[in-house]
Amino acid sequence: MAGVYVHIPFCASRCSYCDFFSTLELKDAGAPYVEAVVAEAALRNPELRGEQLRTLYLGGGTPSQLPLPLLERLVKGLNESLNLSDVEEFTIEANPDDVTAEWCAALRPLGVNRVSMGVQSFEDPILRAIGRRHNARQVTQAMENLHAAGITNVSIDLIYGLPGQTLDSWIRTVEQAIALSPQHVSAYGLTYEEGTRLWRQRERGEVSEVPEEDCIEMYKVLVKMLQNAGFEHYEISNFALPGYHSRHNSSYWDETPYLGLGAAAHSYDGNARRSNPCDLHQYVASINAGCPAYEEEEMTRWERYDERVMLGLRTARGVDAGRLREDFGDEAWNHFSREVQRHLEAGNVRQDDGSRYVLTADGILLSDSVIRDLMWDG
Ligand code: SF4
Repeated sequence: MAGVYVHIPFCASRCSYCDFFSTLELKDAGAPYVEAVVAEAALRNPELRGEQLRTLYLGGGTPSQLPLPLLERLVKGLNESLNLSDVEEFTIEANPDDVTAEWCAALRPLGVNRVSMGVQSFEDPILRAIGRRHNARQVTQAMENLHAAGITNVSIDLIYGLPGQTLDSWIRTVEQAIALSPQHVSAYGLTYEEGTRLWRQRERGEVSEVPEEDCIEMYKVLVKMLQNAGFEHYEISNFALPGYHSRHNSSYWDETPYLGLGAAAHSYDGNARRSNPCDLHQYVASINAGCPAYEEEEMTRWERYDERVMLGLRTARGVDAGRLREDFGDEAWNHFSREVQRHLEAGNVRQDDGSRYVLTADGILLSDSVIRDLMWDG
């Protein structure tokens, strides 16, 4: 089994908190970029080693900014060199203001069966302050358009700890998200990434950070409200109704190989990571020359061990002790079992089925430090 990720690095404007790789050059660079991605799929198809493709994910940037003829060309082109017939989950990321009735109607014929919407908040002043282009009313309209087009698997992204957000306003945002009946919610705490507009605003004293204890309360309230609404908390930042876990993202967490196409995309084949250049023009030029310009990093045994521990503990499935010992040997197992002992005693970790180590609700709040302790190179 394997997945394919395609990075669509175009945005209509830049949000103040964002440090993802994206550009505003869609008009001039969109068509050559799509052709380059199609060509890259053909060039790098052998890296999938004949594995069945189960998930396809168009992320960004803002994939919903691609004009429909380019989106259609992209999917048709991928279909020519990748076997998409076994794809069970085909996700496209979207910004709510792009989710028109016309756009939604085009999705199912292309095979898209899941939409992940960057909502972030239902508070218009907060959305404006962080440079989002949409408002809360457009989210509701987008959801109606998706449902009318038969898209019944929708994920909503939220951010807590945004400047100006209070616990009450966050609760209203979560209530409104639940009221729209999504199948999946992802919620991340805001981070001030160096170099972003928001980071500079904080440096100049124009915005102030929400205190950490308030962010913790926001997270606790989020977990409780979503669980009460029937969502399973299957990864630290991800919640889904039964049967709606993101298969694509789950494959990252359980080390399924994936091929990343497009500028700034990453790939993993079980041993090595490959990273495409974070430069649109360099990316297109290298593909047009028939030579993908990725950087390759062979992972050491200890790096793979760290990844297993970190990714496993983020999920409700936890870390499988037997597999950890089998795959990484006694030295790794001795380190893990010694370090995990005090977190078991402190109530940060529990054992499920006798063999899986899982973060408890308290442990999730301390996840960074617990995971660091258990990693080899923490
Ligand atoms: S739309 Fe998404 S990728 Fe684009 S700037 Fe905003 S957060 Fe970043």
